[in-house]
Amino acid sequence: MLQIYIETYGCSNNIAESGIMKALLYSHGCSFTNNLDIAEIMIINTCIVKQKTISKIKRRIQDLMPKFDNGRKIIIAGCMPEVLLTEIIKLSSHSSIISTHRIKEISKVVESVLKGKRVVLTGKSNLEKCSLPKIRENKLITIIPISSGCNGSCSYCLARLAKGSLFSYPEDEIIKSIENDLKQGAKEIWLTSQDNASYGLDRGKQELPELLNKVLNLKHNFKLRLGMMNPNNIHQILDKMIEIYKNKKMYKFLHIPIQSASNKIIQDMGRLYNIEQVIEIIQKFRKEFPDITIATDIIVGYPIETEEDHKLNLEFLKTYKPDVFNLSKFSSHKNTKAGKLLVLNKELINKRASELMEMHRKTAMENKQKFKDKIIKVFVNVKVPASGSGTLSMLQNSDKNFGHKKISNNLYESRDDNYNIILIKSSDKSILGKNIDVKVKSIGVHHMIGEVV
Ligand code: SF4
Repeated sequence: MLQIYIETYGCSNNIAESGIMKALLYSHGCSFTNNLDIAEIMIINTCIVKQKTISKIKRRIQDLMPKFDNGRKIIIAGCMPEVLLTEIIKLSSHSSIISTHRIKEISKVVESVLKGKRVVLTGKSNLEKCSLPKIRENKLITIIPISSGCNGSCSYCLARLAKGSLFSYPEDEIIKSIENDLKQGAKEIWLTSQDNASYGLDRGKQELPELLNKVLNLKHNFKLRLGMMNPNNIHQILDKMIEIYKNKKMYKFLHIPIQSASNKIIQDMGRLYNIEQVIEIIQKFRKEFPDITIATDIIVGYPIETEEDHKLNLEFLKTYKPDVFNLSKFSSHKNTKAGKLLVLNKELINKRASELMEMHRKTAMENKQKFKDKIIKVFVNVKVPASGSGTLSMLQNSDKNFGHKKISNNLYESRDDNYNIILIKSSDKSILGKNIDVKVKSIGVHHMIGEVV
């Protein structure tokens, strides 16, 4: 059987797309390996949201090319082929290429590659990815894309160029896909897209509330995690969304990327809201759900960002204390509007980034104090691999106060109702997939450590 190794970069959507490619290839008679040395074909599922990730993928391709020139082949998939095709072709002279819009044709590409042909498949299409089969790595979690593309036009964004304009998948196909996964044992549903609150806008109406109500009415026992929503779009349906979040099946988790707390920068970025609307969203949600996890993203060092704008970002973090904070340093892409602006000095961007991260660490720790020594209900959703796992390396990098070396075996990841991560060490394998009580023993910026009670 043909052995394929798949390496995935980027967001939950990309993880879902790797699962789709796996299912399509599996039904074509392929098998999969985690050992790159024995793989006959390697698929790299790329991401272009962050410059850091783009550089990492390029280095990876460069390193791998000499190992894959003698019968073994590389296929480059994902978003990179749509916007950086010439660069990829230069980097990987003998690899094949398939863009995110063409994943349905992955088996055809593999077949051609095996015959010694080089394939380059790009070009946008409206593909209902939620209806495609998928193989889920974690049987308890299912990732459901609800749309592709985006109706925004942010000045710095490469993702929009790769994904195209908004295409919302039909509601009945999404529900069918969720029901199917629930029947197969999924207990946690992630709804994902570039901006979940824009769902339906391409058909003339925001349809997210209706979609969520239908999902929540499904007669199964599960939790729903709603992904990113742009502030302008959630602001339009704010009261309806707060009502929906009252449902016990909803994780109290709200991801609203602000990108900057300065209205001047938000406007220049071409994002269609102001910081006052963001504050209203946070305040209304926190009034109803005081412990809700608020996640946000900021781009530091946008070309026209002044010291004043940076102070507004710091002040925002200090006042509204987001629990999860994704910070990106501005990266200039020549194909974008912001790519034409003069970039700021690298040292200055690094300095501002450190100050923002420091502020976040402080406020996130303050937020978590209330959980210390509390007994909380959690859903155990992941068995953390003993070594090399994302969770453990994240701990090693960021939560040094955990004494992580002591917790490398029998480690499980769990989530409370607010989608906080609680790591549990237990020799009882049966806790996976269950709701259990844990006592919070210690807290960190990204995780808490709990003990089964
Ligand atoms: S909302 Fe803006 S940043 Fe997000 S995908 Fe659309 S264009 Fe890009």
